[in-house]
Amino acid sequence: MTDLLPISLPTDGLAGCFIDGAWHRPADTLDVENPSRRETITTVGKGGAAEIDTAVAAARRALPEWRARPASERGALLAELGRRLSANHEEVARLLAAETGNAIRTQSRGETAGAAGVLTYFGGVAVEQKGEVLPFGPGLFSYSTREPLGVVGSIIPWNSPLQLGCGKISMALATGNTLVLKPAEDAPLAILRLTELAADLFPAGVFNVVTGVGEEAGAALAAHPDVDKLSFTGSSEVGFSVARQAAERLAHSTLELGGKSPCIVFPDAGAPDRVDATAQGIVNAMRFARQGQSCTAGSRLFVHEDVWEPVMTKVVEIAERMVVGDALDEAADIGAIVNAERYEEVRNYVAEAEQAGATFLTGSTPVPVEDASAFQPIPTVLSGVDNDWRISREEVFGPVMVAIPWSDEGEVIAMANDTHYGLAAFIFSQDVNTIMRTSDALEAGWIWVNDGGGQIPGMSYGGVKQSGQGREYSIEGALEAYTSRKSVTMRLAT
Ligand code: NAD
Repeated sequence: MTDLLPISLPTDGLAGCFIDGAWHRPADTLDVENPSRRETITTVGKGGAAEIDTAVAAARRALPEWRARPASERGALLAELGRRLSANHEEVARLLAAETGNAIRTQSRGETAGAAGVLTYFGGVAVEQKGEVLPFGPGLFSYSTREPLGVVGSIIPWNSPLQLGCGKISMALATGNTLVLKPAEDAPLAILRLTELAADLFPAGVFNVVTGVGEEAGAALAAHPDVDKLSFTGSSEVGFSVARQAAERLAHSTLELGGKSPCIVFPDAGAPDRVDATAQGIVNAMRFARQGQSCTAGSRLFVHEDVWEPVMTKVVEIAERMVVGDALDEAADIGAIVNAERYEEVRNYVAEAEQAGATFLTGSTPVPVEDASAFQPIPTVLSGVDNDWRISREEVFGPVMVAIPWSDEGEVIAMANDTHYGLAAFIFSQDVNTIMRTSDALEAGWIWVNDGGGQIPGMSYGGVKQSGQGREYSIEGALEAYTSRKSVTMRLAT
């Protein structure tokens, strides 16, 4: 192990709530833990229904002035926040690694750079909030505009908090809405540091943050009658309840939920000249380097039986080479699962599969939580499981992949689609016809071919089926999800 990197904490941000342009520290507090060491990093203010109420009122007051600003000015402020985040990149990345357990070298630096990229992207495209002119013939002129929805309430999870937070901030503010953002209780620090960087940037009330637990602050935001739109990223269970509350008052909602994404390997991708790249792509898709804690993890691997041996040998070899360690250790490829509860859930899934007779190609059932000095499970690949086992159907959200051989294309597509999720999918082949035919047949919102990369700003991102509703990450998605069209039709004197 190399020396662990030091972190510097937010200062004002430890208050936990940024409302109407000022920091507020509620009486209640929340401990933020470092899952790599099982120790408390710091304590932040914990907001609840009262802080949500104040923040929503501030966002409502700030709305008229903000929505009237030229989109270019709103975009310029987002771009400036992106620049400030880049200027503080290393400091924010270390905070992120400490609180999420996501390894600094493989994950947290990349996430911080990606988050700044999202702000920069939306800063540039904010001016694309355009309407249309409709050809109704002489004497009739009709045009449409895109108007902000109003006050947006955004709720984000802990697994990729900065990137997701910057996405929500960008989409809401670029399109002229005002925002109340609720970070995840497990990982609020990087967002609070970002908020410090934004504190003097936006007019008071435009951007508000209330840190708190889901059942209190999150639930209060979801149920608030003066929130016009909810944008939620997190588990399906909570997402369903957020959608129900939005529906009760006809508020708009965007949901980015879970996944159990298939990864299909065709025979040509296992050929000697391709197998290394394919295996690395599979490992990337599985997000082993983020402990598998990614909604898009390609956690169901379907490998053609003709190339099962070489592909699985390589996948195991790469997974076993990965270094598991403290998230603030430069040597670590993989960090720690975020908390004891999630660790225990992952352990239960693997223990159940082991009992049912699954074969470990690599990895093992994690040690019980009371024996774990850090929540660090090792990458685990299981074979001898069916597509209908619980471990193949439910989102484990840990570094656990099931591998299933296939021989018939129709059957593998049917297995891939036999899930209530539809977030991402991964295809490995060099044949364009195979790739396009398979992409067409897969029920997923996002498909990667021949790698397992991440989201790129500008690409509409979101799921089908129970993986969510709406698209984010692109200007098209933001316009659909954060604005409404107004049509104006004029009778002209002719
Ligand atoms: P979670 O649903 O438990 O929590 C997400 C957020 O919701 C947190 O801020 C939490 O405080 C809040 N929350 C919890 N209960 C609430 C309630 N009753 N009302 C309102 N808000 C509430 O999810 P998690 O465990 O933090 O994150 C993991 C999940 O997120 C996984 O299922 C993963 O697939 C999903 N996820 C999806 C995407 C995507 O883009 N589709 C991205 C990342 C994570």
